[in-house]
Amino acid sequence: MFFFFVGGLEQQARQVLKSGAGRCIACGSRADLVDYEKVLKLFFVPVWRWPGKEPVMYCNDCKLFFPQSLTPPPPSSTADVLRCQFCRREVDADFRFCPFCGNAL
Ligand SMILES: [Zn+2]
Ligand SMILES: [Zn+2]
Repeated sequence: MFFFFVGGLEQQARQVLKSGAGRCIACGSRADLVDYEKVLKLFFVPVWRWPGKEPVMYCNDCKLFFPQSLTPPPPSSTADVLRCQFCRREVDADFRFCPFCGNAL
């Protein structure tokens, strides 16, 4: 996988920040947002480890790390658009009652 194995440098997930935060760019299955660390190994023995700068996405299926910006965003739930829980239509957040089905929001 890329150049990370050259010289025994690996990335390892340290902890899952958000499970299922996106999709794997390689296989399309659920990928987690993780804190990771880089581990320098000599003859398969970790000799040095340091934390990654920012969280990355990690796919458990193909063991792939990739930047969060590459993953398709999860189904959008923008702040100013409300979704009626009865008819599932998008309603402006200012409404108190759904204009489509009349239920209280
Ligand atoms: Zn994958
Ligand atoms: Zn409705």
